[in-house]
Amino acid sequence: MKNQLFRYLFILIVISGCSERSSPDNQEANAVGNYDGPIIDMHIHAYSDGNPLMSMTHPPTLRSETYEGINSGAEQKEKTLEKFRQHNIVKAIVTNGQLWFDDSSEVILVGGANRPVEALRKQYQEGGLQAIAEMSPFYAGILADDASQMPYFELAQELNIPVGFHIFPGGPNYGIHLMPQMLGGMRAYNANPIQLEEVLVKFPNLKLYIMHGGWPYVDDVKALMYAHPNVYVDIAVVNWLLPQKELNNYLKSLINAGFGERIMFGSDQMVWPQVISVGIQSVNNADFLTLDQKEDIFYDNAAKFLGLSEAEIEKHKSQ
Ligand SMILES: [Zn+2]
Repeated sequence: MKNQLFRYLFILIVISGCSERSSPDNQEANAVGNYDGPIIDMHIHAYSDGNPLMSMTHPPTLRSETYEGINSGAEQKEKTLEKFRQHNIVKAIVTNGQLWFDDSSEVILVGGANRPVEALRKQYQEGGLQAIAEMSPFYAGILADDASQMPYFELAQELNIPVGFHIFPGGPNYGIHLMPQMLGGMRAYNANPIQLEEVLVKFPNLKLYIMHGGWPYVDDVKALMYAHPNVYVDIAVVNWLLPQKELNNYLKSLINAGFGERIMFGSDQMVWPQVISVGIQSVNNADFLTLDQKEDIFYDNAAKFLGLSEAEIEKHKSQ
């Protein structure tokens, strides 16, 4: 009787051990491992001291994490650049990157937006603007195809520089209610990427990327990508705000449709530089991705989108 009990116990242990080892998630995660090559971050912000987000703790995300905010512009710069070094981030589009350019000129591509068009043109002519990002008329309830926005897209196409357009899920979940002064103009009905369609018809040569990936409107993102070959997405925020399974669903949906070469890594760290690490780990934890697909997301797709030279790519890959 005692022997039989031991035998049952033994069988149970073997079975539970087997089922853990053979679960598809574990197998794939173990087989593929983490990507450890160079990374391009398409979505970074540089702030100066007065920024209203300073010292703010991020409210619980949809994965129930909170993040403590940094306290000054100097700290934001220092901690973000530290993350660049830690994760081998070799290029980054940095909105207001002129604030940090002298500290990391090799890495930073300066983004600017939400200023008069002529000011942006002047900044470009002086060599200080490499992208129009991020455009966020969304916060004021203004759609992409509003007449007031056309000069920005026109300028981006004329200068042949990327333009990043912000929609959902930018701003914390429940942001309309949590931060009414700053985010009270946001509406879910204003957040759909389909609003970009007339812009894409009018400016067929735009290098356009949807910031924050257009989640949760993934079917509409697919429709836009299907209709317009020049539409890319960055996956900033979705990679640290959404539960892992939902991020997986989003990525899988685009990749299964054949758009895996138009997904670019981004973090949108704002005053929480630690989310850069979280975002990178979340892509690595997407257990259905092959290493090649991770390399596409972390580097190759953005290198193509930005038009990096062969020499530059070779240099990054050998770092
Ligand atoms: Zn942003």
